[in-house]
Amino acid sequence: MLLVQKYGGTSVGTLERIEVVAQRVKKTKDEGNDVVVVVSAMSGETNKLIDYAHHFSKNPRKRELDMLLSAGERVTSSLLSIALNELGCEAIAFSGRQAGMHTDSFHTKAKIESINPKLIKEAISQGKVVVVAGFQGINEKDEVTTLGRGGSDLSAVALAGALKADLCEIFTDVDGVYTTDPRIEPKARKLDKVTYDEMLELASLGAKVLQNRSVELAKKLNINLVTRSSFNNHEGTLITGEKKMESAIISGIALDRNQAIVSVRNVDDKPGVAAKIFEVLSKEEINVDMIIQNIGSDGVANIGFTVPENELDRALEALKELDSSFVIDSNKEVVKVSIVGIGMKSNSGIASKAFSVMSENGINIQMISTSEIRISVIVNEKYGELAVRALHEAYELDK
Ligand code: ADP
Ligand code: ASP
Ligand code: MG
Repeated sequence: MLLVQKYGGTSVGTLERIEVVAQRVKKTKDEGNDVVVVVSAMSGETNKLIDYAHHFSKNPRKRELDMLLSAGERVTSSLLSIALNELGCEAIAFSGRQAGMHTDSFHTKAKIESINPKLIKEAISQGKVVVVAGFQGINEKDEVTTLGRGGSDLSAVALAGALKADLCEIFTDVDGVYTTDPRIEPKARKLDKVTYDEMLELASLGAKVLQNRSVELAKKLNINLVTRSSFNNHEGTLITGEKKMESAIISGIALDRNQAIVSVRNVDDKPGVAAKIFEVLSKEEINVDMIIQNIGSDGVANIGFTVPENELDRALEALKELDSSFVIDSNKEVVKVSIVGIGMKSNSGIASKAFSVMSENGINIQMISTSEIRISVIVNEKYGELAVRALHEAYELDK
């Protein structure tokens, strides 16, 4: 079999952990498999590098950021390769460029355009384990790019596709995908299987156990994807296109802490104003999520919306372009709690239950949005985990 194994930040977080991973990879190879490994930076490393950049500049150029951030994954890929060679397991480390990972030019959020795995295939045919630095590629001008936070998952899935691997295993620090983050709710239940669609929704709404774009690609390429722990040998969660025979109404609860509210007050209540606000933001490629506009009175209205907290500074900067009579406020102390489930669309009463759970717990809902398969609410960050636990219990997800 040809396996792509991805090891996340905690799994390679210390030199001891890298040694453990080397042993696991060697074992897989010794069992007769071809193995391509994708690694993240050591946990905390990418954040540390971002902080370093911010020491010098509030808004560092993204090309330079990408050069910097790609270094974290190069460190772990080389260290793991060195450790493997020392164990007598022939290995070679590749940067994103050497792995043939070609992307567009959106620095810090680049999309993979194509993969040319020539060097990888050569190394495999020589019997080597290939260790690829995740999260990175190069654009048409040979500049280093990165794929967005959590992007090593995407590197792994894309490589599994390009190499037609039999399986893509994502090794992390929990046993698989749970009904909610097991660090918030210890009663969360591990799911043996989830569909691509449910996983995509959970990941997009904050369950960072898999990066959402990696799930999207796995679905598109129909890749056998498994999430499991690098700390034990438990069976993980299979992410699959198979529909479950009797799907549960709700598959899980997600918490997204990377949220901020922006409110623009004293806006003229006339056509075109909202367009102008969101145009300025889209020019800066800021992802606006929930939007509310309250009914205008006296010819003025207020518009509120959410943006990722790590894009708030850029959003506020961009909004300075607008009419100076607008009053702009922001609030970082909010999180988004979401209930996800394919079975929800044919079940009324799910939403009303969520709202009564929130009210019983004295949690004020600041914004709501719903779709056929999810309900999301914005609440004060101090109630985020309480909301997750209360909803988990109310929908009996531990059963
Ligand atoms: P890695 O460094 O291996 O990529 P991440 O930190 O990105 O790992 O993702 C794993 C973390 O995702 C877990 O430690 C867990 O706290 C969190 N998590 C959030 N939601 C879920 C969920 N529904 N199931 C499992 N883990 C989740
Ligand atoms: N190191 C990168 C990050 O922290 C990519 C990854 O871990 O997947 O976002
Ligand atoms: Mg991750």
